[in-house]
Amino acid sequence: MQIYNSLTRTKEEFRPIEEGKVKMYTCGPTVYHFAHIGNLRSYIMEDVLDRYLRYAGYEVTRVMNITDVGHLTSDADTGEDKMLKGARREHKTVLEIARFYTDAFFEDCRKLRIRTPDVVQPATGCIDDFIKVITSLLEKGYAYTAGGNVYFDTSKLEKYYVFNDFEEEDLAVGVREGVEGDENKRNKADFVLWFTKSKFDAQELKWDSPFGIGYPGWHIECSCISMKYLGEYLDIHCGGIDNAFPHHTNEIAQSEAYIGHPWCHYWFHVHHLNTTSGKMSKSSGEFLTVSLLESKGYAPEVYRFFCMQSHYRKSLVFSYEGLDNAKAAYQKLVARVASLKADGEVDRRAFEDLKAGFTSALDNDMNTSLAVTAYYDVLKAGTNDSTKLALIEDFEQVMQLGLLDAVKALREEEKAKAEPSEDDRWILDLIAARAEAKKAKNYAEADRIRGELSEKGIILVDTKEGTTYKKA
Ligand code: AMP
Ligand code: ZN
Repeated sequence: MQIYNSLTRTKEEFRPIEEGKVKMYTCGPTVYHFAHIGNLRSYIMEDVLDRYLRYAGYEVTRVMNITDVGHLTSDADTGEDKMLKGARREHKTVLEIARFYTDAFFEDCRKLRIRTPDVVQPATGCIDDFIKVITSLLEKGYAYTAGGNVYFDTSKLEKYYVFNDFEEEDLAVGVREGVEGDENKRNKADFVLWFTKSKFDAQELKWDSPFGIGYPGWHIECSCISMKYLGEYLDIHCGGIDNAFPHHTNEIAQSEAYIGHPWCHYWFHVHHLNTTSGKMSKSSGEFLTVSLLESKGYAPEVYRFFCMQSHYRKSLVFSYEGLDNAKAAYQKLVARVASLKADGEVDRRAFEDLKAGFTSALDNDMNTSLAVTAYYDVLKAGTNDSTKLALIEDFEQVMQLGLLDAVKALREEEKAKAEPSEDDRWILDLIAARAEAKKAKNYAEADRIRGELSEKGIILVDTKEGTTYKKA
């Protein structure tokens, strides 16, 4: 399997450190608000990678953090703590906010068929681990104290800007966002490991530490949580492309300074979902969530399907028009799968040939849009329906488009249309009573029943085969 590694900027053959086993880390959400569908694009594409590795036979251990402290409004240590901002907005405590939005995040993931990682670890549960690593970085001379805070000294590294796409100019991001710089920093790129005396006096959650009462910077959590559960060697680290700098750059800096050797082999970055007017936002424009899409009649699976149709390394523009196209294509696909009828033995040869089309798409740096095409190849192939159904079931282990559940729902809907439901039983009883009345030539009673039903919006239709009804 070939996978693009942002660190080397090339597609590489995927080889985990330990044969057959994959250690995978994912940057989790900052739980100060609902996730927008851009955030969820990253988690959907990471989910396909996770599932595909398992499908390919690897034993995957995947760890994800939950950021519930330390992530400031600018990724470069400036602005205010996002959690505090969220708590203030809703007149709640930080812990209440964290709990509520963590649950909301996993509810969105469930709807989008995203597998929950094997370990999910909130940052606030690992403060001792952060303190241990920060203490060691201070001892080794990779960190310094200034103005009460502890900073990582990026000048101590041979190479800090490990992702070539990012350079010093990108640090201007904080300035662009209209927040002031930090005079305590020795070098522009230095970043906070631990805040004590800072402008965030209102910070709700603080912990005692050898560096003073305070709280951790954002980046330290991912290094520590990853190493705690996965050890000193990591196979794949995932996140949205905005995480590459400064977040992942800082994770690499502090992890490798701490362990003294290279840390993670493959860096998997999902490019952004943008709106037609630019960057997706939680605070301006329409706040696009899974629930909003549902309220407009788009099933979460339709959004997953929309994401699958483009490559994770290309930015994707969201529009309702695009989503409508995805919805129409999805419904057609469901109808085509629904028309398949199990009709005998699976043709193993055809199965393997068609499966090869699917795996070669995903083996080529997770080409999900070609993997979607593999479904259509199956549907039009000259093999029996049982083979087609077996293939679709097989692909669904990875793609999770929810096709088989959608087919089941469609069949139930059709059945419900054909046979009246229990709720309509009273109508049938009245129709039977009317037929009895007619038989007994009691036309007044028969008309009364017709009138009673008509008042309730039920129109009777007498046919040669008997009486049916429609709802007005
Ligand atoms: P956050 O909750 O801000 O920590 O972000 C959660 C994840 O969403 C991270 O992996 C981000 O890199 C990713 N992300 C943020 N914005 C977008 C976007 N517009 N499209 C795709 N991924 C995004
Ligand atoms: Zn992270």
